[in-house]
Amino acid sequence: MYEHDVIVVGAGGAGLRAAIAAHEAGADTAIVSKLHPVRSHTGAAEGGINAALQEGDDWELHAYDTMKGSDYLGDAPAVETLAQDAPEDTMRLEHWGMPFSREEDGRVSQRPFGGLSYPRTTYAGAETGHHLLHTMYEQVVKRGIQVYDEWYVMNLATTDEDDPNERDCHGVVAYDVQSGQIEGFKANNGVVLATGGPGQAFDHTTNAVSCTGDGHAMAYRAGAPLEDMEFIQFHPTSLPSTGVLISEGVRGEGGILYNSEGERFMFEYGYANNSGELASRDVVARAELTEVAEGRGIDDEYVHLDMRHLGEERIMDRLENILHLAEDFEGVDGLVEPMPVKPGQHYAMGGIETDENGQTCINGLYAAGECACVSVHGGNRLGGNALPELIVFGKRAGRHAAGEDLGEAEIRTGYGDDVEDETDTELPVQPGSAGLADTGVAADGGVTADAEGLLERAVERERERVDRLMDRDSGVQHAEIRSKLQQAMTDHVNVFRTAEGVKKALRTIRECREEYQNVYVDDPSRTFNTDLQQTIETRNLIDVAETIALGALVRNEFRGAHWRQENQVRDDENWLKHTLISWNGGNPEIFYRPVILEGEEKTYEPKERSY
Ligand SMILES: Cc1cc2nc3c(=O)[nH]c(=O)nc-3n(C[C@H](O)[C@H](O)[C@H](O)COP(=O)(O)OP(=O)(O)OC[C@H]3O[C@@H](n4cnc5c(N)ncnc54)[C@H](O)[C@@H]3O)c2cc1C
Repeated sequence: MYEHDVIVVGAGGAGLRAAIAAHEAGADTAIVSKLHPVRSHTGAAEGGINAALQEGDDWELHAYDTMKGSDYLGDAPAVETLAQDAPEDTMRLEHWGMPFSREEDGRVSQRPFGGLSYPRTTYAGAETGHHLLHTMYEQVVKRGIQVYDEWYVMNLATTDEDDPNERDCHGVVAYDVQSGQIEGFKANNGVVLATGGPGQAFDHTTNAVSCTGDGHAMAYRAGAPLEDMEFIQFHPTSLPSTGVLISEGVRGEGGILYNSEGERFMFEYGYANNSGELASRDVVARAELTEVAEGRGIDDEYVHLDMRHLGEERIMDRLENILHLAEDFEGVDGLVEPMPVKPGQHYAMGGIETDENGQTCINGLYAAGECACVSVHGGNRLGGNALPELIVFGKRAGRHAAGEDLGEAEIRTGYGDDVEDETDTELPVQPGSAGLADTGVAADGGVTADAEGLLERAVERERERVDRLMDRDSGVQHAEIRSKLQQAMTDHVNVFRTAEGVKKALRTIRECREEYQNVYVDDPSRTFNTDLQQTIETRNLIDVAETIALGALVRNEFRGAHWRQENQVRDDENWLKHTLISWNGGNPEIFYRPVILEGEEKTYEPKERSY
């Protein structure tokens, strides 16, 4: 058993920032991560960090752009905190040595990004995330913060009061990927989940194989609601063969999108008459797929992104990494030919419901970064707004978990609090537990009796689960279940959604859940058993995919990244509210909470969103 004041699960941008903050607040802090910190997915971030740094720009403009980009589903107190704190937190990175790109006069450069009214995106070439991780990891090492890397967190140790709002989180159970040993990590003050996104729920994604929504699933099964899970961002410029991202920085620098007719379709067909390629991502992704559907796609699949006119010098200076990606993954030389691009799953706007201090409704359980929903992105995240979220809310979660008083949060969280109504949508299958005999191979709620000996019992249960998985010598392999799930999500819960399609996905998810009862691990070894780890991750993906599909089915309107064929308009009268899904006793319950449009000094009145 290991013991610390604050345990941070995850070592991406959010986890590293939370750990530094908790340590600075005086807590004995440790990071537990399935990957070495600098391999975390944040390292793939290319384009930059939004922060109002320059004269002529200010946090209010950043907040306004973010609320508009969110299609008025962001909570104003969180959005304003993001915009207010981003400049200072970005400059702190600069003081820690982050090698930001610079202008001739030495000032940090900023580039235009989609949906921004000012060039506000601070960057380090097209490798911003890589430098962000390395800069913060250096600070972690410098402070002597303990890092347990290649430890996979399997579950939370949480008390089992009926009301999730009264539960306490005492720590986590993790297994050492190197040795297979399963141990408890006791957190005297708090656990911060910073486990990143759930992109692997989809077949075509810009996310790494490590993005399996583990934190989402663990918190959900422990009773913390997941918020706005239906809002998935599909990035307009992923490479068709692999999903590898071509940064929005290319369009920010002046890159142009063309269809098979050589037309600059964003203007030609009026998708975004003012901003063109730099409209927000949901708008551009829908435009591209509409071009393909109307026969103006290339190979019936993609469109072209052209940056040749920017010239070799500028490309090499600001976008060199993009040249390598296009060459390595598509065999295309971006200096002499356009690059093929199509929309790919990219980001989850929703996540574990938290307040501005990262607190969930479970005492001692925090979340930050992409796994959390505070909510700043609402229905659609603006490019460049995730990295500031990591540093602003990662820092706040770390400080609060360490016991610092950050004042009363304006956003309320919790199961059942302020419940407005419950869904009456007809569901095609009973979601949640498979309804078959419990074989013990699937993690249950992660909730383990009362506080006494809680962590020991949680460890025991996870050891038994792994023994059961390893004892089987036949059944279905996780890869089969995972690819079926991913295909169903990409086919039916993509950019364009229909009720019938989403229902099909829910039925497939149900089948995956049933097949999972017979899952088996082929690799008998206890060391570096990626088969075992991916089997556990696959269960998490099933739960998370189900919340995405459930949210997509009940939200019968078109808002931000969520488009529904049956109702292609934003319905502010009925849907200015967050969708919350809570797992209670294996039975997902859906409820809603109103969006907060009142900021510090003004109210953000929903307007028609045009670019
Ligand atoms: C290709 C790409 C480019 C992007 N570019 C930008 C950009 O330019 N600007 C921007 O603002 N946003 C960008 N984003 C979004 C942004 O990068 C991510 O949202 C953000 O980096 C996520 O950070 P995180 O700390 O929440 O998670 P991650 O960086 O994914 O870290 C998750 C951590 O959790 C750990 N973990 C997960 N599960 C477990 C477990 N069970 N046990 C133990 N540890 C676990 C992992 O080891 C990892 O350390 C981009 C996203 C992608 C995919």
